[in-house]
Amino acid sequence: MKVRYCWRCRIDVPMLDEEESKIASRLYAEGFQEFKKSKKIPLKENFTKLLNYYNDLTGFGETEPNAILHHIIDLYGPDCENCGKPYRTEKATFCTKCGNKRQF
Ligand SMILES: [Zn+2]
Ligand SMILES: [Zn+2]
Repeated sequence: MKVRYCWRCRIDVPMLDEEESKIASRLYAEGFQEFKKSKKIPLKENFTKLLNYYNDLTGFGETEPNAILHHIIDLYGPDCENCGKPYRTEKATFCTKCGNKRQF
C-alpha cells in the first residue's frame, strides 16, 4: 500500500500494490456473487468484505467499492520528477499537473 494522488478523486488516497489488488479484485468479484444471491439493495452492502479489507489495510474509511478498483498503484505511471504526482498512465510523456516533460 502506498499513498498516491488519484486523478479521478483529486485527492491523495491509499493505493494497493500488486498482491493487495489481487485480493481486492477477488473480494470485488465475491461482492457480485453476494448480490446475485441476496439481491440486497443498496449494492454497497454486498461489498462489505472488500470495504473492510481496504479500510483495515489503509485506515482510510472508503465507502465506495468501485473507487477501490482504481486505487491500484500499477494503473498509473511513476511519480513525476518535478511535482511528485503520478503520471496518469505508464506511457504518459508529460505531467498533466505541472507540465514537466518526462525523462525516459
Ligand atoms: Zn480515485
Ligand atoms: Zn508534475
